[in-house]
Amino acid sequence: MLSLSCKPLQWCCLLALLLPAWPAGAEWFSENTELMGTSVSVELWGQDGARSRELIAAVLAEIERLDLMMNPWNPGSELARINREAGRGPVVTTPEIVEVVTRALYYSRLSEGAFDISFASVGQYYDYREGRAPADEVVARDRENIDYRAIALDPGAGSIHFTRPGLQIDLGGIAKGYAVDRSIELLQRAGVQSAIVSAGGDSRILGDLGDRPRTIGIRHPRRPGEYVVMIPLADTAISTSGDYERFFMQGEVRVHHILDPATGRSTQGLQSASVLAPRAMDSDALSTTVFVLGVERGLQLINSLPGVDAILIDGAGKLHYSADLLLSTRG
Ligand code: ADP
Ligand code: MG
Repeated sequence: MLSLSCKPLQWCCLLALLLPAWPAGAEWFSENTELMGTSVSVELWGQDGARSRELIAAVLAEIERLDLMMNPWNPGSELARINREAGRGPVVTTPEIVEVVTRALYYSRLSEGAFDISFASVGQYYDYREGRAPADEVVARDRENIDYRAIALDPGAGSIHFTRPGLQIDLGGIAKGYAVDRSIELLQRAGVQSAIVSAGGDSRILGDLGDRPRTIGIRHPRRPGEYVVMIPLADTAISTSGDYERFFMQGEVRVHHILDPATGRSTQGLQSASVLAPRAMDSDALSTTVFVLGVERGLQLINSLPGVDAILIDGAGKLHYSADLLLSTRG
């Protein structure tokens, strides 16, 4: 989870005075709500109050629409229908789901299966709120259904088919980023030049604060309310995956919501992985991917992707940076 380090409404008065390049009378408008199982916030810099509030409402309606479509726990959702029917044959679905699954499969191939939306074949048996994990027999039985190669997507037909009948998918590692991108695109089309949209640990920043970038904090994975590093950012997306948001302890083992597809169990290694990328769908999928891959393989992957950076916190609390960030901190 990320959070803003400054109080935007306080800044706005200051900025209105200091920045003649920004239209006089403009101010920050914002709204927070609960959607996609997390807290969502939209903040934009606008001149017209009624228009700005209308835009924020349009963004929240769009996120709600995607939430209703992609929530696997809601039996009425399109994703739940896919999970019920795609094991029997191709299911024609929405362009949004086709787009998200296409990108998810791209990251599965790129990470050789570390990112795999079919983790849900086993993931569906975890209940973090109730502190329940599936028994070894259940994991052994269903682990073979975690296999992205058994997700047959036909973009021309707009259909999806599971070639393993027991396979289930969950877009929790990528859908929030997609919703954030859709929101920013909506604001851009409306002419907004400065905004930030966040859904849980996924944020995208449009523009800057006029004369300087925003400062975003990366949370301390073991000390709630504290930050380990603050980074100035403009025109980028940033996502953080951590083992401290949704978890319970089973003896010494931290059972959390990111599963290693190879074992069907929570990964043990990193405490936090933050990824910066131009688009939130990519930073979201990659933060989950790197969390599974660990420090060495994770940084290797990030360093191979132009325009993508990462800040990782290992099991001992040590920070690791991708190559470009190391260069910029030394420079
Ligand atoms: P958050 O949902 O807290 O923002 P992430 O973006 O890291 O955090 O996503 C974690 C979610 O990703 C899990 O709740 C689950 O829905 C999904 N997930 C878990 N393991 C995997 C995996 N190996 N590949 C793809 N998605 C995963
Ligand atoms: Mg993610």
